[in-house]
Amino acid sequence: MRPGQHRVLQGHPWVFHGEFRDLPADLAPGEIVEVADARGRLVGSGYLNPESSILVRILTRGERHPDPEWATAKLHAAITRRRQEMPDVTDLRLVHAEADGLPGFVLERMGGYAIVSPDTLGAQEVLLPWLLDEIRALGPEGVVLRAVSPSRQHEGLGLELRMLAGDPPRGPVEVHEEGVTYLVDLLSGQKTGHYFDQRRNRSRVGALSSGRRVLDVFSYTGGFALHAARGGASSVTAIDSSSDAVTALRRNAERNGVVIEAREENAFDALRTLSQARERFDLVVLDPPPFARGRAHLPAALRAYKEINLRAMRLLPPGGILSTASCSHAVSVEDFLGAVRAAAADAGFTGRVLGIHGADSDHPVRIEIPETDYLHCIELVKE
Ligand code: SAH
Repeated sequence: MRPGQHRVLQGHPWVFHGEFRDLPADLAPGEIVEVADARGRLVGSGYLNPESSILVRILTRGERHPDPEWATAKLHAAITRRRQEMPDVTDLRLVHAEADGLPGFVLERMGGYAIVSPDTLGAQEVLLPWLLDEIRALGPEGVVLRAVSPSRQHEGLGLELRMLAGDPPRGPVEVHEEGVTYLVDLLSGQKTGHYFDQRRNRSRVGALSSGRRVLDVFSYTGGFALHAARGGASSVTAIDSSSDAVTALRRNAERNGVVIEAREENAFDALRTLSQARERFDLVVLDPPPFARGRAHLPAALRAYKEINLRAMRLLPPGGILSTASCSHAVSVEDFLGAVRAAAADAGFTGRVLGIHGADSDHPVRIEIPETDYLHCIELVKE
């Protein structure tokens, strides 16, 4: 590793290919290797994937060698912290990869099942075998391998969706979130999972919805829309371009006994049509997919954030609320605030910032790993 105040020396686990000076010729995928600094001092050990631009992800520091015992301790530390901090939450992310010291390894609990999502080769071939028995010992109905993240292609991995232990669920499982139930198809390849990171922001929208006309844009399976309806919204309209998501949203609305008007439509077009028709909503939620998948996409992403926020602002009467999110890893909270501010300037929107929030605490943010601070949700009221 090259000298200087290197981020890896400060606790960041990623070491990129180009950062190594002396690389052995025979690098085996999934091998545990030791990493030294420029002076030859041992930094730590991690797993290796020659296919990935992140050649090594550090697991342990100094002399400690990673092994199943080490991984088990990390797993239990992650679960114990959540039990203490979120004792009433039954469905949640139990392990959030790098942010919990287990790079690439995601574990969630939904409807009594354990769902493992390894995003890297090392998570799948090293950490998963070390942890599978421990996960089974947690007593889930079954363990599902749900390795469907598009980021796996950067690791040379395909997609996998199957049971690792136990019988498959007979139908969708129920995910409970503060009085709302989501039906989730664990084994369907369709995008009907559930994102836990917005839990707290959804519940905030639910609490703000009473008596309001609510518009949930990029609604997916109804994350925000269902909380708005439960919170006493006078009407709820949801927009998503995916027919699977809209179908799942309708099923969720029925399961929760609420009425939501779900439209399968491109959000950019829908927002334009609504503002041309001079429609008004008292609360608008914007929760788009990541517009920037890397720093190279940042300018285009910021233009897209500005665009949708500007359109959403035009739908709000005085007193109207905008809850707007970015989940792009490459977009900092300052970048995102800048885009929202530029939208406000163009829309002639003035108002108060009710809050700027991140992900719920089952998606911890680590100061030494900026990438863990990926979700930003800004709430504004028009005044
Ligand atoms: N708010 C949701 C999560 C949104 S995920 C929740 O709380 O669960 C982002 C969603 O945006 C996905 O469902 C995807 O289908 C949808 N989407 C992506 N591009 C879109 C577009 N151009 N117009 C409308 N929806 C879009």
